Amino acid sequence: MATMYYEQNINEDVLKGKKIAIIGYGSQGHAHALNLKESGFDVVVGVRPGGSFDAAKADGIDVKTVAEAAQEADVIQILLPDERQKAVYEAEIAPYLQAGKALMFAHGFNIHFGQITPPADVDVFLVAPKGPGHLVRRQFQEGAGVPGLFAIHQDATGQAKDLALAYGKGIGAARGGLLETTFKEETETDLFGEQAVLCGGATQLVRAGFETLVEAGYQPELAYFETLHELKLIVDLMFEGGMATMRYSVSDTAEWGDYVAGPRIIDETVKARMKDVLTDIQDGTFARRWIQENENGRPEYTKFKEAGANHQIEEVGAKLRAMMPFINEGKEKVVREVAA
Ligand code: NDP
Ligand code: MG
Ligand code: MG
Repeated sequence: MATMYYEQNINEDVLKGKKIAIIGYGSQGHAHALNLKESGFDVVVGVRPGGSFDAAKADGIDVKTVAEAAQEADVIQILLPDERQKAVYEAEIAPYLQAGKALMFAHGFNIHFGQITPPADVDVFLVAPKGPGHLVRRQFQEGAGVPGLFAIHQDATGQAKDLALAYGKGIGAARGGLLETTFKEETETDLFGEQAVLCGGATQLVRAGFETLVEAGYQPELAYFETLHELKLIVDLMFEGGMATMRYSVSDTAEWGDYVAGPRIIDETVKARMKDVLTDIQDGTFARRWIQENENGRPEYTKFKEAGANHQIEEVGAKLRAMMPFINEGKEKVVREVAA
């Protein structure tokens, strides 16, 4: 069984009085910086001049260049896109990593796949919320918290674990629970989850269902409600009470259809391919392809992104959502960022 830590098990004093540099002010960066600041910690954000710099400033955060923030901080959390971390680390962070400082991540990719090798005399650990950054911020403001993982790669000072727990408490993750793991387990399970279930699996399932209905002559708007919009309502029930709660709320007819048709759609062949995807993650095949894709200037990524944006489900969805402004009430930030 997993070892879990909650707010009452954690003493955050070890992190008080230390300066925490949040490098990057994107999805995770803005959430960590603002949550830590409101939890009473000393935070500086390090980013290059531009949109993120201006956003941090507008949010009332102390903001500097990456090098300046890394230089003055005791704890440096790298919240840049994974594929950019190596270059920024080498140029603007490594020169300021004196003995006894702490280097942090929110995902183990660069350490686990050998892209970044920190000096032996610094602490290296990760605190990874199990949710999108905008929800890490939103839930914190609501008094809730997205659960998180923490892992220690190097404990040079003997304080790495206490620092990780204090940080996790500061961003609100200990309200949901902090689970102890390793860089290897965090990296491999995070990549698998997003590829097979959360992002890759879910979008392909929705898309295939939408296309099946539209190709059979049903109205696209109805297909959107049925396969995308309602999925959130169903997932909310699973989130609140597991599969049984969802099955309690839907009709017995829906529940019977779930039992007999579900395994025809997601069968053993799907699981076999999930295992192939997991193998590609474990043996480094996925990491090599993604690093190469970035070195090539992202030709395939760009193609996939365009194709996704041009799919009929996005066009139909945009029109229907415009008639349901309540969906995004109080949540404009993410939608605005996507539209920008
Ligand atoms: P984002 O893409 O949202 O963050 C981008 C930020 O990095 C922006 O502030 C951007 O600034 C800055 N940046 C990019 N390149 C540079 C550069 N060369 N120099 C300085 N700043 C730069 O990242 P995420 O928040 O998605 O991911 C951060 C980390 O968190 C990753 O390790 C990821 O795996 C992990 N993670 C992410 C989750 C998520 O919800 N997204 C969930 C859990 C973990 P600018 O505006 O100037 O481009
Ligand atoms: Mg991830
Ligand atoms: Mg994840």
